[in-house]
Amino acid sequence: MSIAENINQFREQLPEYVKLVAVSKTKPAEDILEAYKAGQRIFGENKIQEMAAKWEALPKDIQWHMIGHVQTNKVKYMAPFVSLIHGVDSIKLLKEINKQALKNDRVIDCLIQVKIATEETKFGLEHDQLEGLFKQKEELGLNNVRIVGLMGMASFTADDEQIEIEFSNLKETYDCFDYFENFDVLSMGMSGDYKIAIKYGSNMIRVGSAIFGARNYQ
Ligand SMILES: *Cc1c(COP(=O)(O)O)cnc(C)c1O
Repeated sequence: MSIAENINQFREQLPEYVKLVAVSKTKPAEDILEAYKAGQRIFGENKIQEMAAKWEALPKDIQWHMIGHVQTNKVKYMAPFVSLIHGVDSIKLLKEINKQALKNDRVIDCLIQVKIATEETKFGLEHDQLEGLFKQKEELGLNNVRIVGLMGMASFTADDEQIEIEFSNLKETYDCFDYFENFDVLSMGMSGDYKIAIKYGSNMIRVGSAIFGARNYQ
């Protein structure tokens, strides 16, 4: 199937409230344009410089989401245009995003990454670190960043039950904070587990290989 057909198929099968982030990391501009022509406007990248180069080259109504781990010293390269940063996991990073957002006269939306997987290699905060982070953000007056929700990645496993537990934990955490203003994004689910994620309350999925085909490198 072509990229356009994959996009159309996703649009038909997803509930209307679920946003599709087409993860285009490592993929060339022409693949992104094909998805764009099929109506896709949200794209996800995991390397800041790669995303910035694509932003320069491609239509300006694309919303670029940073889904990878963010190094503080690179925030400046995406601050002029990034639409949502999924992987925020420290106050230090929030401060830098706030600083760069201010310089660009913008408010940048962020998701806090929560660690739900068992793997050591996955980033994110624990449930009980979140309240502290939200409080610090308020106390520091970081008014040019908005925390609009949470993001998580399930363990890489064929064990669906394990994935269900992890996603339902994240949903529970998310529900603890839904009294916040503008807190309405739950980013969970990828090509292999988005159906489970939606069943457990995801409203934003990040799908790469199921749209663009396998990647040659991560
Ligand atoms: C690469 C990546 C995805 C997409 O993965 P697929 O399995 O290709 O759908 C989603 N989320 C994050 C954080 C990623 O790095």
